[in-house]
Amino acid sequence: MRLSQSFLPVLKESPSDAQIASHKLMLQAGLVRQTAAGIYAWLPLGWRVLQKVEQIVREEQDRAGAQEMLMPTIQPADLWRESGRYDAYGPEMLRIKDRHDREMLYGPTNEDMITALFRDDVKSYRDLPRMLYHIQWKFRDEVRPRFGVMRGREFLMKDAYSFDLDEAGGQRSYYRQLLAYLRTFRRMGIKAVPMQADSGPIGGKLSHEFIILAPNGESEVFYDAAVESIDLDRPGLSYDDDAGLAALFNEVTGSYAATDETHDPARWAMVDDKAKRTGRGIEVGHIFYFGDRYSKAMGLKVSGRDGDMVTPMMGSYGVGVSRLVGAIIEASHDDNGIIWPEAVAPWKVGIVTMRADDEATVAAAADLYQKLGAAGVETLYDDRDERGGVKLGGMDLMGLPWQIIIGPRGLKDGVVEVKNRASGEREELTPEAALAKLT
Ligand code: ATP
Ligand code: MG
Ligand code: MG
Ligand code: MG
Repeated sequence: MRLSQSFLPVLKESPSDAQIASHKLMLQAGLVRQTAAGIYAWLPLGWRVLQKVEQIVREEQDRAGAQEMLMPTIQPADLWRESGRYDAYGPEMLRIKDRHDREMLYGPTNEDMITALFRDDVKSYRDLPRMLYHIQWKFRDEVRPRFGVMRGREFLMKDAYSFDLDEAGGQRSYYRQLLAYLRTFRRMGIKAVPMQADSGPIGGKLSHEFIILAPNGESEVFYDAAVESIDLDRPGLSYDDDAGLAALFNEVTGSYAATDETHDPARWAMVDDKAKRTGRGIEVGHIFYFGDRYSKAMGLKVSGRDGDMVTPMMGSYGVGVSRLVGAIIEASHDDNGIIWPEAVAPWKVGIVTMRADDEATVAAAADLYQKLGAAGVETLYDDRDERGGVKLGGMDLMGLPWQIIIGPRGLKDGVVEVKNRASGEREELTPEAALAKLT
């Protein structure tokens, strides 16, 4: 992408209406714009990152054996009456009436709908187990939308749902999602700690939240450092290996990890002082096993092996896809701007020309831009007629992992400068060597 032709509005001043770094940076670097309280438009830069995050979530769900589908944002109130939580859900639900006076709502989550869909088409134990997911916008009329996309009212969530014949199967699905979540967050270059959780209004038994550590997080966290060093690649740990999955679960639950909601000072006191970690964190994912809570209420039954009717056991598994964009920035930035982990960066490389009026500089930049593109490397080329310093500041703000800085002085010696955004390290390389390094 050539910057001269793109819509990447960067604010000169840091916005004063944002309280935390990620929110400020998302506005300043032009990732999002608020269109109403807690509702955001995703501009091209933010949209690229959102899609990267979404794609990682999708790939790990697919690996875990979940199948993608898409449910609508607008739901009929009657579905929620069937499951018995229409009234209980309270003012966070945006309730809507259509022109025929039918009660509708903008979905805050989809347990009720998926249970009804599954019920209407699944009749036999042979159709189980199944795991389904979608990545769809949700609406929750939060009392206090804040921190930008981290607590929006409209937000993008991946929600998966599992259906199993019995409790043991339900547990296995839960374990699979546990592994999928740990791998998902690791791929994004962030550390998300699984913590024992309350299951809240969704109701249930087994529940973990995944928390990214950040000083501005809304939850207080207490955990044993051991939970950070769980090996996710060891032999025997796969989605098809029950023993390996159970061992992973035992390892996760064997180390103390809780938020303020579930914190147990008595158990905490037993953790070795050297291993104790405390701080604040952001919830980026949440998994639940709730058994027959919805299947029973909504009459989802299948015929079992022996002909008796069986009520499937369910779980649901959410990832805050749009919240993650803010949370990743919260965990990875400095005074100059965002520092994207490579896996979610909007572009891998940014090219900056220090002198847009110097022919050799422009020719070298255009050549590298073309070659990087041909090699499939996502590159943003700042070809604007701007001062070099302004462009460098913009690149740091946008946080692309690599910068190639090209100017007449270096070119006289046949070199360009390659800068790593995270470490700040700079290297002078020939254009060919720069190309080889980044492809
Ligand atoms: P929170 O405790 O932050 O209100 P929640 O526990 O109500 O979140 P869940 O019902 O567990 O949320 O939804 C699954 C995921 O959706 C959460 O882990 C979070 O990442 C994301 N999420 C929930 N509410 C919001 C929101 N208002 N804005 C952005 N993401 C959200
Ligand atoms: Mg909430
Ligand atoms: Mg929560
Ligand atoms: Mg939650």
